[in-house]
Amino acid sequence: MSYIIDGKKISQDIKDEVKDEVSKLKAKGVEPCLAVVLVGDDPASHVYVRNKIKACDYTGIKSVSINLPADTEESELLQKVEELNADEKVHGILVQLPLPPQIDEDKVINTIDPDKDVDGFSPISVGRLSIGLPGFKSCTPAGIIELIKRSGVSIDGKNCVIVGRSNIVGKPMAMLLLRENGTVTVCHSHTKNLREITSQADILVAAVGKPKYFKAEDIKEGAVVIDVGMDRDENGKLCGDVDFTSVSEKAGYITPVPGGVGPMTIAMLMKNCVEAAERL
Ligand code: NAP
Repeated sequence: MSYIIDGKKISQDIKDEVKDEVSKLKAKGVEPCLAVVLVGDDPASHVYVRNKIKACDYTGIKSVSINLPADTEESELLQKVEELNADEKVHGILVQLPLPPQIDEDKVINTIDPDKDVDGFSPISVGRLSIGLPGFKSCTPAGIIELIKRSGVSIDGKNCVIVGRSNIVGKPMAMLLLRENGTVTVCHSHTKNLREITSQADILVAAVGKPKYFKAEDIKEGAVVIDVGMDRDENGKLCGDVDFTSVSEKAGYITPVPGGVGPMTIAMLMKNCVEAAERL
């Protein structure tokens, strides 16, 4: 039976560390502030934003909510972002995705000041990450590094396999594992002999978005298995990309779904907000 990496506990530890940092900053007269922009009425986005604001309340980070109607024009949103860029009291800016179809998401992300880009999605943040400059790291992959390290696992020299190459998970994950001196392979839907590759991984990050796609036979004995997937099984129950029941018998370490990678994303967002306030 593998060691179950407790994302709820680790994310709570990080939020408590952030809370301490926020108190120290406030004692120096700096009040970390995150602006959260939400466009439209997508129910899932409302839930995500509410959870981010709740985490701000917990850690003591000031949050400013900007809710715009679904028919907001691109130019209006860009102007709002520019105003937040210029506002010295705002340290982090988050525009909740997805945006309505009349708005070009890339244009909006590009408009956020890279020094306030706490989601780490802008091309400048991605470029900084790639060449090892200080900057904001995309929250989900940065949270995965914390999960691995805080479980006492060294990444140095390990054979790391990531399945998935999205801009928000797979690609930044590769850069972060490389920074930790992992030997990194990135797989995707065109990869040949996928299961042969995954079964050689010391550290496997599954981010394909397919329920229980990886079984015990796809995993190396004792591997660290990080399950990013947020999928639904045949009964509509939340599950990951990894078949937890069989894989947990073989892996050395495993993240559950829920309670693994999921809670880390918001914790890392809070960490990025404090970093933003410390830098300015
Ligand atoms: P995505 O943009 O849909 O990317 C999926 C990736 O998987 C793509 O690179 C795709 O390859 C690859 N893929 C699809 N089928 C494959 C197959 N049969 N074999 C090998 N590779 C395959 O997804 P994402 O945004 O990265 O998210 C992945 C999963 O993580 C989803 O379940 C999502 O809900 C979850 N997620 C969780 C969190 C969290 O906080 N826990 C955050 C973000 C995402 P191609 O590039 O070739 O199409």
